[in-house]
Amino acid sequence: MRNLKAERILDIAKRRGFFWQSSLIHGAISGFYDYGHVGSMLKRKFENIWRDYFLGLDENFYEIQTSVVMPEEVFKASGHLENFVDPICKCSKCGNVMRADHILEKELKESFEGVSPEDLLKIIKKHDIRCEKCKGPLKETGVFNMLFPLKLGVGKGARTGYLTGETAQGAYVNFKLEFDSLRRRLPMGLAIIGKAFRNEISPRNVLIRMREFTQAELQIFFNPDMINEHPKFSEVKKYGLLLFPVKNRKGERIEKITCEDAVKKLKLPKFFVYHMARIQQFYLGVLGISKKSFRFRELSDEEKAFYNKYHWDIELHMETLGGFKEVAGIHYRTDHDLSGHQSVSGESMTVDINGKKVLPHVLELSFGVDRNVYALIELAYTEEKNRIVLKFPRAVSPYDAAVFPLVSKDGLDELANSVKDALRKDGFRVFYDDSGSIGRRYRRMDEIGVAACITIDYDSKKKKDVTLRDRDSMKQVRIRIKDLPAGLKRFLEGEELEKIGKLLKS
Ligand code: AMP
Repeated sequence: MRNLKAERILDIAKRRGFFWQSSLIHGAISGFYDYGHVGSMLKRKFENIWRDYFLGLDENFYEIQTSVVMPEEVFKASGHLENFVDPICKCSKCGNVMRADHILEKELKESFEGVSPEDLLKIIKKHDIRCEKCKGPLKETGVFNMLFPLKLGVGKGARTGYLTGETAQGAYVNFKLEFDSLRRRLPMGLAIIGKAFRNEISPRNVLIRMREFTQAELQIFFNPDMINEHPKFSEVKKYGLLLFPVKNRKGERIEKITCEDAVKKLKLPKFFVYHMARIQQFYLGVLGISKKSFRFRELSDEEKAFYNKYHWDIELHMETLGGFKEVAGIHYRTDHDLSGHQSVSGESMTVDINGKKVLPHVLELSFGVDRNVYALIELAYTEEKNRIVLKFPRAVSPYDAAVFPLVSKDGLDELANSVKDALRKDGFRVFYDDSGSIGRRYRRMDEIGVAACITIDYDSKKKKDVTLRDRDSMKQVRIRIKDLPAGLKRFLEGEELEKIGKLLKS
């Protein structure tokens, strides 16, 4: 990640309180990041928007919170002990260990995901790929398990556990308990927003490949007999999905295909396609991502996990990362998870649906929160003549508004404080700033993407009104203080600036 835009984003991230490497003062370990005050708010906003949207898709979808430490049996059942591995190769000169598929990807500019370690070694030999550090010859391709093991307790009773590599297992081990305590009906969705841990061999690209990261995942347990149906499919049937199927790999062509055609022509089940549509609507409609920056990428049989019958990644175009990058995925995992837990635990995972025994299948919607946060920052990043501005969609901005007194005297600061307090009381997230020139204060807020700046000037005292400046157009309106909460709310919901107050001549 060595380009000017990436460096400027990292500079803002550190200077303005978004994120930086963890434990910097002690020498950071790669793959671990901390969020500062602005980054935490942005991340929380994404999580809240995600939660409201995806839990709102069905009355039987709920959020749960589960432990990040789980016993070895969980990972036996899930297959992680055996399959949660990355291919590695070693330099025979300096001993440097690298991810074999990544080094090939870097050198040959194509994806080697899913290629076996033996085949990777053959390709390395054929192209005489060398160590990235010392240019020595590479040898030994093997695999490395990414789970972090833990010794839990002492003495005889000690058990082996692992930090979870994905939040999903928390939903699977709790499926039966939740099914029984809920309505005993399918589909049932269990969402978890929580931490995942992977001992990545080469963490890189800041929030894109980390060792500790946050996932927002929704596991939808459903009756496999109903996979070709969804009660609300008619709502999306004419909606155009932006698809990048395997057959288009060479030309990089993205196709717009309606949901009904995705069912007919691509032979995807309605239940799967319905959720693809809702995911795309989340990105385009709720997060304000442009169509040209979004696509679903189909994974080939070699790339996808053996248990995933259908697997499409959601990719966003990020210039700093050189193109489209995965931020989420939609996976039809069949009965792999529940049958694994059933056989290792000995507890039946079947449920009774209308007198018939059913082992539910799982549709997983899996989002990397940190990757999405990075994407939101990168896609919002704009350089203009005299400023750098993060043009987040208004609903996503870390702060809703900033309040400034023009000067901190003559009662303007008191009035500004009362405006700020009133807005906070109404639930807005407001930043108060009374230091430096107004121009500099605007620039600071532009760099953290605050959608609206509210200034209290001498006229405010007389006329009981304020100016509200739109971050993107830099235009300003005057609005009465008593109308401010309602006006700001409408503005954040997307109302045009001109409609919430009297436009000032610039
Ligand atoms: P996976 O379980 O590998 O399908 O990952 C699900 C989602 O988690 C991906 O779409 C990413 O957004 C995110 N993710 C996976 N690995 C990492 C990582 N090492 N660092 C940050 N996010 C990740």
